[in-house]
This record gives sequence, C-alpha cells and structure tokens, in this order.
Amino acid sequence: MNDYLTILGAGLAGSEAAWQVAERGVSVRLYEMRPATPTPAHKTDNCAELVCSNSLGNNQTPSAPHLLKEELRKFNSLVISSGDSHSVPAGAALAVDRNLFSQNITQKLSEHPNITLIREEVTEIPTDGPVIIATGPLTSPKLSESISKLIGQEYLYFYDALSPIVDASTIDYEKTFFASRYDKGSDDYLNCPIDATQYYNLVRELNQGEKVPFKSFEKPIYFEGCLPVEELASRGEKTLAFGPLKPVGLLHPETKKQFHAVVQLRHENKEGTAFNLVGFQTKLTYPEQKRIFRMIPGLENAEFFRFGAIHRNTFINAPDLLSPELDLKTNSGIYFAGQIIGVEGYVESVAMGLLAGLSAVKRIRGEKYFTPPADTALGSLLSHVTGPPRSSYQPMNINYGLFPVGQKKIRNKLERNKMIASKALESLSQWIDSINGEIGSAA
Ligand SMILES: Cc1cc2nc3c(=O)[nH]c(=O)nc-3n(C[C@H](O)[C@H](O)[C@H](O)COP(=O)(O)OP(=O)(O)OC[C@H]3O[C@@H](n4cnc5c(N)ncnc54)[C@H](O)[C@@H]3O)c2cc1C
Repeated sequence: MNDYLTILGAGLAGSEAAWQVAERGVSVRLYEMRPATPTPAHKTDNCAELVCSNSLGNNQTPSAPHLLKEELRKFNSLVISSGDSHSVPAGAALAVDRNLFSQNITQKLSEHPNITLIREEVTEIPTDGPVIIATGPLTSPKLSESISKLIGQEYLYFYDALSPIVDASTIDYEKTFFASRYDKGSDDYLNCPIDATQYYNLVRELNQGEKVPFKSFEKPIYFEGCLPVEELASRGEKTLAFGPLKPVGLLHPETKKQFHAVVQLRHENKEGTAFNLVGFQTKLTYPEQKRIFRMIPGLENAEFFRFGAIHRNTFINAPDLLSPELDLKTNSGIYFAGQIIGVEGYVESVAMGLLAGLSAVKRIRGEKYFTPPADTALGSLLSHVTGPPRSSYQPMNINYGLFPVGQKKIRNKLERNKMIASKALESLSQWIDSINGEIGSAA
C-alpha cells in the first residue's frame, strides 16, 4: 500500500483533509480540476472557494454552528483559521473576504512540504492506495459515472428540496393539535390550524416574499411531487388549501372543528425535539422564511434548526454505504467527505474533511481509529451521516436536534444549549487527548 494519500477535490472538505493529513507527516496528492475544467458555480482557481454566500455561519456561543467551529479550531483547522484571519464584519456570523480567504488556503496548501497540488480532473477513482473523494455537489460528470459504478447506485444530480426544521421547544402547543388525517395510525402529526384570513395572508406573503435566485445552470426543473411552497402558491390562491395544506380529515380532537387549512409538522427525530414543516420546501431567503413561517399559528416564536432550501445537489446514500470511519463498507480505504456524503454547508463539509483525514492517517499507519464522541458537534454530524440506514436520507447542517437527547430536559433553550456546548467541548478534549499520542496533533 502507498504511504501517501490521494485526495480528489480541493474544495472545503478536500483542503481541510489535505492539511490535517499533511500536518501529521503523511504525504498527500491533492487533485483539483479547476481551472482547466471548471464547475458551473466556481469562479476562480482557488482552493476552498466559497461558491455562494461568504458566510461560514453563526459564530456566537452557544449556537450549534459556533460549537462546530470551536471544535474545528481545536484541531487548528486550516479553513476556520483562514476564516478567522480574513473575517469581515457580519454581526453574529463569521463572514469572510472570500478572495483573501481562499487565496490564503491555496497558498498554505501549495507551500506545504507534504502536499502536492495537482491541477487535473480525475475521471476514475484511483486504485493505488487510500483515497478521499471530496469532489462536492458539482463533481465532474466523468468522475460521477465512475463513482456510480463503484457504489452500484444512482446518486447524481437532482434538486435538493429541504423543508425547514423547527425547534420543538419553541412551538405554541396551545394553538396546535396532534392528529393524523382521518385518524389513520397514531397521532404523529402536529397540526397548525389556519382560518381563511390567515390563509390568504400567508399565500400573499409566499408570493411576495423575497426568493433566492437560481444560478444560471440551475434551471428550475421541479418534480411535481416536490414543488416549492411558493411555486404552489403562485399557481392559484386555493392551490395550497387543496395541496399540502388541505384540512380534510383533520378535525380538532376536542371541538371536532374543520379548519380552512392546516399546516402539518412531522417529527424530525425519534426524541421529538425537532419538527419538519411538511411541504414547505422553498427558495425564500432565510429572513423571509423566518418572517413568513412565523405567521403560521403556533409558530409565532418558532426557532429554526434548519431553513428550507432548493438547490442543485448530489450526494450518496452515506448511511447505506459508509462505515463510521467514512470509507466504503464494501471497499475500505475509499473515503468520502464533504457535501457529497450528505452534509449541508461549508463548515459541515470542512468537518467531514477533517474526520476523513484523521481516519485515513490511522489507516496509513496501520492503527485503530476511534470516532469522535456522539455528544460533540463532530460526532453528532458523523452519526447523522453514518447512522442506521433510513428510507429518506436528507442532507443536514449542524443543529442541536442531531445531538443525543440527554441534556435537553432543561426547558430554557439558552441554558440547554450552553450545557450541550460545554459538554461537547469537554468530550472533544478528552477524545483529542486519547487520540493525540497516536494520531499526532496539527499544532
Ligand atoms: C450553487 C451552490 C450554492 C451553494 N451555496 C452555499 C452557501 O451559500 N452556503 C453554504 O454553506 N453552502 C453552500 N453550498 C453548498 C456548498 O457547495 C458546500 O457547502 C461546500 O462547498 C461543499 O464543500 P465540498 O468540499 O464538499 O465541495 P466543493 O467545495 O464544491 O469542492 C469540491 C471540489 O472538487 C473539485 N472537483 C470536482 N470534480 C473533480 C474531479 N473530477 N477531479 C478533480 N477535482 C474535482 C471542484 O472543482 C471543487 O473545487 C452551495 C452549493 C452549490 C452547488
């Protein structure tokens, strides 16, 4: 076996993986196809280019995105340290000067004695040793074909439609009721009843609310079964009431009243700490989602673990395919990292790059690797990606709904999140101590 690691894609995940591996003394061949072969979204030849927003997300404790960044900082993450060095004022967020940020990362990778940056499109998965595939949501078509063949599954190209996820502790249960349509099965859905005035106000705001424009290559080819809520609203003011908001079969359990429309919320996790707004996949901007979805009775003070989104995406069915070490169950030594494994967001992709890198180092050294504890941000994301196979696997960004349920009994959300964050950092430190001797630190 080689004593070097091949990494495909110098995006967010590949750059971080390369850095972590190289800092631990292992040689890396890092392949990046730009500039010779462009993607439809990248505009430069820089490593770790941010293709859309220049924000790396919330950077204030005790938010989950901040916790994930803190955990990455403990590993001297190249991407996060570059973000910290090249930040621009953005309130609670860590936003960066995108050019300085990615130029810095490119320079650090290019100058590293253990990294060879090769500007070449890879069309076949290398077979001469361990490899991390981190080619992202815009993986080149030839490599996509090769990955499809290897995993024996179609996985490529579709519009990723995500509904918002609400923190269950922020819902007003006085205004909502649990019931299933026509009382079929158990009362699994939480229903937000809407009267006629509220309904037409909601439809108006969905139509008028600000939307995120599609990129030129993202022509909105929708599947009829998965239309954005605002697209349905635009087809006629009654369309939603006959579609995802239809009230039939959903009577109030006590008054037996039927409403003009009903928004249904579905459990997002077993613990019942998060709910999904059924049918609310959307291109509305995040602030507009917050404003408009809070018009729904019961959600006036809702906090969102994740906002809705629709954009082009590609990811593999990681829970089916990957081991907790992030390599293929059927082909150990072939690792995947970044958005291609079903994490959503820049920093989440970086996190998976870090873990795949650490895991690959252990393999190259012939040593056992221990995954991060589940009560850390890194561990909870990893559990989402490599947890039990499920019928509907969806990309996810970091949120406290992914954490084990133990700490969540505290009712005050701020206090609860502070507890989770502090426990996570404690667990992470212990994990780092336990692996550092063997895996080496990137100090
Ligand atoms: C249009 C669009 C907008 C987005 N906007 C946001 C946003 O605003 N905020 C956010 O958090 N996330 C956003 N995302 C998600 C974002 O892509 C990911 O969060 C993040 O960039 C993924 O990191 P990655 O390392 O997995 O992939 P990338 O950062 O995309 O890196 C993959 C790299 O692999 C290279 N590559 C591809 N194929 C090959 C090949 N065959 N050979 C060699 N190199 C190859 C690519 O050129 C690229 O540099 C957006 C995604 C898309 C597609």
